[in-house]
Amino acid sequence: MKISIQSLKPGVSTYKERIKPDFIEQNFVRFYPNDFDVDVLLDKIDRDFRVRVYLSSTALYVCDRCLEEYTEDLKTDTEQIYKISAEQNPVDDDFVFVSPDTTEIDLKDLLNETIVLSHPIKMLCKEDCKGLCAGCGANLNNEECKCQEADSDPRWEELRKLIK
Ligand SMILES: [Zn+2]
Ligand SMILES: [Zn+2]
Repeated sequence: MKISIQSLKPGVSTYKERIKPDFIEQNFVRFYPNDFDVDVLLDKIDRDFRVRVYLSSTALYVCDRCLEEYTEDLKTDTEQIYKISAEQNPVDDDFVFVSPDTTEIDLKDLLNETIVLSHPIKMLCKEDCKGLCAGCGANLNNEECKCQEADSDPRWEELRKLIK
């Protein structure tokens, strides 16, 4: 998503776009297959462009416990100040610098960074997901553990008969 700053008036401008998730870096692509709704509030103050971005989409996560895929509404936002500077490679972590002849701001990196930073460390399909049985691998959310059945070894059956 690119925003033209060529003939932008001072003050706040708003933008709204639905974009493909093609701004997301390789390792995270599979979690974000759906389009993103992007709302941008851009405040031009002198030679600074203060950009506030709101992102929403539907993420596709994989539960850490039961390994099932599940979807989740995703809403996140961020802010970044772009500064026009004629200096060669100015460094300041608070700003992204753009040269005076820049005609548009490309939000691709900012959008990617926002999604990567808000990516969940832990994924759970639901708070009380029962996960998989370590023995038989049954998904305990919707099936019974089969470990007991697997234990009914014929040799034990013989023993049971003897006991009787
Ligand atoms: Zn789960
Ligand atoms: Zn089991």
